[in-house]
Amino acid sequence: TSFQGLAQIQIAKRRIEENVTVTYEQALASVLPIVRAMDAHTVSLASVSGDILARDVFADRNIPPFPRVAMDGYAVIWTGREVEKPYRVVGTVNPGGAWNGDAADSDCIKIMTGAMVPPPFDTVIQVELAKAAPDGTIRFTDPVKRGENIAREGEDVREGAVLIPAGTLLSPHHVAILSSVGQWAVPVYKRPSVAVLATGSELVEPWETAQGPMIRNSNSHFLLAALKELGFAEIRYLGIAPDDRERIVSKILEGLDCDFLLLSGGVSVGDVDIVPDCLNACGVRKILHKVAVKPGKPIFVGESPGGGIVIGLPGNPVAVMVHFHMFIRPLLLKASGATEYLPKPILLPLARSAANKSGGKKFTIARLESDGGETRVAEIPSHGSGDFVSACRADGVFEIPLGTVQLPAGHFVRFYPIWGNFLSNEG
Ligand code: AMP
Ligand code: MG
Repeated sequence: TSFQGLAQIQIAKRRIEENVTVTYEQALASVLPIVRAMDAHTVSLASVSGDILARDVFADRNIPPFPRVAMDGYAVIWTGREVEKPYRVVGTVNPGGAWNGDAADSDCIKIMTGAMVPPPFDTVIQVELAKAAPDGTIRFTDPVKRGENIAREGEDVREGAVLIPAGTLLSPHHVAILSSVGQWAVPVYKRPSVAVLATGSELVEPWETAQGPMIRNSNSHFLLAALKELGFAEIRYLGIAPDDRERIVSKILEGLDCDFLLLSGGVSVGDVDIVPDCLNACGVRKILHKVAVKPGKPIFVGESPGGGIVIGLPGNPVAVMVHFHMFIRPLLLKASGATEYLPKPILLPLARSAANKSGGKKFTIARLESDGGETRVAEIPSHGSGDFVSACRADGVFEIPLGTVQLPAGHFVRFYPIWGNFLSNEG
């Protein structure tokens, strides 16, 4: 993709050295190259969904592995004159069963879906097209084509073909493939460890009382839940540090052992936004500090002395949510060995016009609307990036490109379905 183009990386590097704002694409282009996959290990089939495959998986047999009956019926030796004569039933084959013997033109066997068609039979006539006579013979009512109702050996996949390439994020569907080729011990990449820290003197934990100017820490618990959903297990929760240099530094030092350290709050230009300074004091090398994106322009990204990735998110809960899906998840997936890690957009028309006053790229939270016909993207009215209650009704975000001030209703936008559960109570 263009994200990794050398020119992009060079432009990004220069702009970062000049300490200016970079685009979202440049930000990804400057961070992705330093994200490397962990080692591989072997896990059992039962717990593999959500992990990333570390070696190609091959077909150990042809699929189907034998000529397989697709319908309950009668196997015949095709002559093209099936409707003209009575057939004698010389045997029965159920799935998993076999049949051996000689058969003549007018012999058939009863055979069930999933069974192997034994030679010399080559065609199956479905049971609904057969009539049994009182003398036990069978007559077929309709002509058939040679080979009908039989899945040929190897017609889906040939033995030795790659079924799942390394780097694939495994889903339950892949578990079906792994099972079918006998891969019950699966090589997958280890997951990076992730530390989560909230900063802000206004924060208390959900189980504490919040009064007056205090608010409950929701960012950390969003991040912990989102990480858990992605299957990350090695997570260090560092709690809350108030806006105090010593307290923040000591928590950062605890978190730097991890492959990723995610902080929220204190990265903007306010008097108490001291997180970048604290990170610098801990030896974290700055990669970038501002991205031309809304919400969440002041995002700090750095590299720890041990090679870990440090991301200082702004405190705004909506910014944290958007950055998690659009920026952090790609990095986490790449670190987990995935070869495809960027969110894939769908082009959909806008339900209403949409504005972008930010001067950067805007990721706007939206719901999908459908009146039975076309699906449209509808911006969710919100009071801004602190309004996370509105944001939680979203199905995803759509993009208003950098430099675009206004998009009319009907305009096709890039919609990222990264948010909701896509469930309905209507059929
Ligand atoms: P900051 O980026 O520290 O200036 O914070 C921006 C806004 O996000 C402020 O209104 C904060 O109170 C709020 N905020 C910061 N951290 C959190 C958090 N962990 N949970 C919920 N809101 C937060
Ligand atoms: Mg703050």
